[in-house]
Amino acid sequence: MRVWFRANVEKRLAPRADHGRRGHRARSDDFVVVGGHQDSWPGPQATDNAAGNACILELARVFQQHRDKLRRGLVVGFWTGHETGTMIGSVRGSSTATGTACASTRWPICRSTSRACAGTTRWSAASNVELKRFHQGVEKRILGSRPAAWRRAVKNGDASFFGLGVLMLAAQGAFTEEELKKTALANLGWWHHSVENTIDKLDFTFMADHLQGLRRLSVGARARRWSLPFEYVSVADAVHRAPRPAQGGAEGIGLAGRC
Ligand SMILES: [Zn+2]
Repeated sequence: MRVWFRANVEKRLAPRADHGRRGHRARSDDFVVVGGHQDSWPGPQATDNAAGNACILELARVFQQHRDKLRRGLVVGFWTGHETGTMIGSVRGSSTATGTACASTRWPICRSTSRACAGTTRWSAASNVELKRFHQGVEKRILGSRPAAWRRAVKNGDASFFGLGVLMLAAQGAFTEEELKKTALANLGWWHHSVENTIDKLDFTFMADHLQGLRRLSVGARARRWSLPFEYVSVADAVHRAPRPAQGGAEGIGLAGRC
């Protein structure tokens, strides 16, 4: 299916359209948020973030068909003001109803910026430690022998919910070190933010894994009746292993940020 959109953008604060909750018939008020940014640079911007948003739309379409069976809801967010660096859409989302409800129910945020970039061969996920085992279990099932890396989530991009007590995860395809050297460390592809970010820069086979992962993570987080998909042994381990200040702060516990 081929879809073509034209967007008209007005730069102003306006009442937030809460499309994600329309038709919501889950059995509780708890919900998971899946978000991606909708604004971008001139050009097709296939990997930033047209394909990611297409994944979210597909996810919403499928879940809508099964909404009567769901114990928890799904809220999707298409954030604005991402590429300005202000992240104003997700900031607004986190400071109004969505953020408040999420903070109280403690369900995770999944970020979907599609990075099934052509040429990426590895899976790279970032999350809070409490979510690590949950999503790595899902990844093992969908990725097979594909190498996977993990790092602790930090507040960057549209991680405006970070610090509100809401756990989050995001994942993307990653280039090998050798490939990165060839492109002067263009970790999001040499075409990133240029008019060359066309549909051929997507690896559709890998994107199927992304979509599967997003679906399974959402199902996993939404379908469990009593238990949250979080575990705290790893958190306690990290605290236990944390170096004393003299041994070198954030590096020792994986808190050193990465853009
Ligand atoms: Zn961008």
